[in-house]
Amino acid sequence: MYDDTIKDFIRERVSRDIQEERISGGVVTRFPPEPNGYLHIGHAKSICLNFGIAEEFGGITYLRFDDTNPLSESEAFVVAIQRDVKWLGFDWESRLTFASDYFPQLYEFAEELIKRDKAFVCDLSFEELQRSRGSLIEPGTDSPFRNRSKEENLELFRRMRAGEFATGLKTLRAKIDMRAPNINMRDPVLYRIIHASHHRTDSQWCIYPMYDFTHCICDALEGVTHSLCTLEFADHRPLYDWVLENININFHPPQIEFSRLGLEYNVMSKRVLNQLVENRFVSGWDDPRMPTLSGLRKRGVPPAAIRDFCNRVGVTKQNNNIETELLDFCIRNTLESTTRRAMAVKQPLAVEITNIEADELVLEAPWHPKNEELGVRTLTFGRTIYIDHDDFAISPPPKFRRLVPGGLVRLRYAFIIECLDVERDEDGTVTKVFAKYYPSSKSGSDSSGLKPKGVIQFVTANNGVKAEMHDYDRLFSVPIPRQEKFELEFNPDSHVVHHGFVEKAVFAISDDPNFQFERLGFYFRSFDESPNQDQLVFHRTVPLNQGWKPKL
Ligand code: ATP
Ligand code: MG
Repeated sequence: MYDDTIKDFIRERVSRDIQEERISGGVVTRFPPEPNGYLHIGHAKSICLNFGIAEEFGGITYLRFDDTNPLSESEAFVVAIQRDVKWLGFDWESRLTFASDYFPQLYEFAEELIKRDKAFVCDLSFEELQRSRGSLIEPGTDSPFRNRSKEENLELFRRMRAGEFATGLKTLRAKIDMRAPNINMRDPVLYRIIHASHHRTDSQWCIYPMYDFTHCICDALEGVTHSLCTLEFADHRPLYDWVLENININFHPPQIEFSRLGLEYNVMSKRVLNQLVENRFVSGWDDPRMPTLSGLRKRGVPPAAIRDFCNRVGVTKQNNNIETELLDFCIRNTLESTTRRAMAVKQPLAVEITNIEADELVLEAPWHPKNEELGVRTLTFGRTIYIDHDDFAISPPPKFRRLVPGGLVRLRYAFIIECLDVERDEDGTVTKVFAKYYPSSKSGSDSSGLKPKGVIQFVTANNGVKAEMHDYDRLFSVPIPRQEKFELEFNPDSHVVHHGFVEKAVFAISDDPNFQFERLGFYFRSFDESPNQDQLVFHRTVPLNQGWKPKL
């Protein structure tokens, strides 16, 4: 059935409900996004949970768009959300639904509440209504319209629906208790008037149901056996239950809450993410620094890594902010054994090999040190090669194991070189290094007896392709950014572009955009941005491990 080692309180509950035969027709879950933004890694947790549970217990999952607010929702988000759920690896098959599919039934249920004297039409303005709700320590006060007759309410509600009143002029409210300790139970609004066209129902409706009224009924109509949502809805559960208890519906799903996923140095609030986009802190919702699924995809994060991350984070009732290192760990772990390794330099420093006679020497190297299936590639060694500026120092700091004047270093998959001299510009910056190579030191058949301390990567000039390398860092400079201060806490160094080189062999790989560039990190080739060989564009998926390990 499913893996015992990843049991959480929700899976335990589902398992118990099956054993005790509380559900007859199999497990049914749903993922209910509002199409008013792009999905982020927090949503991924909910997707993995809902689709994961159905998969593990042989059930089904609906992808149901919660499209009850025409002012903020659009078809473009509907399309993007579907693409992201698919990309993450989940399939709703034929079970794609919209809350708006149920508008006619929802309307009938609202009339039913009116007829049972459980709902009334209220004329209070939004502000008046807010004021009359009281507070955590003060009870609310009854609306002066609370005692309208059922007949009057029904007539007014029908006129609301017919479009006789302007936006915001009236609401339909549940008649519960203005003195209830839970503010959500103080005669909450069920329907409001919005004269706006809806992306699916166009201008068929000018009254729209509220989330709390809609969600429970849609769950019931779809036979959802476990309605999983985040903790902030715990206070709404009594209303969820109230609605289903007061209408004639033969199914009543249990609402079960779990904690939201937070990720350090990030925000999950759609509002803040939207402001980052609007104010051009980032290039768009799919900027590779964003915690959105489209951003992670553009950064080259494989969906399996996100699923692994969500599994490891687990499901609890404790709100927590997960270390970004765990996500990075999952990404590396997923890519490690199947990703080709190659050589690239980010800040090229030219090295002239003074004693080479042939134009170039052809060498061979495996694409992966352990995974032989990936095969080999050829590289060349020639008169001009590039190494990274950081791998050379005139006055090296202690423990510097790279190239220094008069010193030796091994070039990965090639030869040992010795630095003979340097050329500088007028500022004293080294612009070129002169070195000799030891022909007897070829990797794999080294008979030179030389013992250089370090190994560095290189790209031979005429075997290299220009590479635009985008390095990303944390989106924010503090672990828990404050929503109201996000502009100050945005990390201005979160995106750095380098103009370097990669070995030519990388260009020919058309079936996998992921690479590990030796000593630099995992990178993702953007085929869209670099269609030809003049210059390749890479996004850094994740840096190499700095020794971090998961605690669990
Ligand atoms: P909003 O604040 O606009 O309501 P939202 O992030 O809740 O945004 P929804 O589209 O309503 O967006 O979310 C769809 C589902 O994803 C909901 O069931 C919600 O509980 C869940 N979800 C949203 N954010 C997280 C998160 N950070 N962790 C886990 N689940 C989440
Ligand atoms: Mg929401």
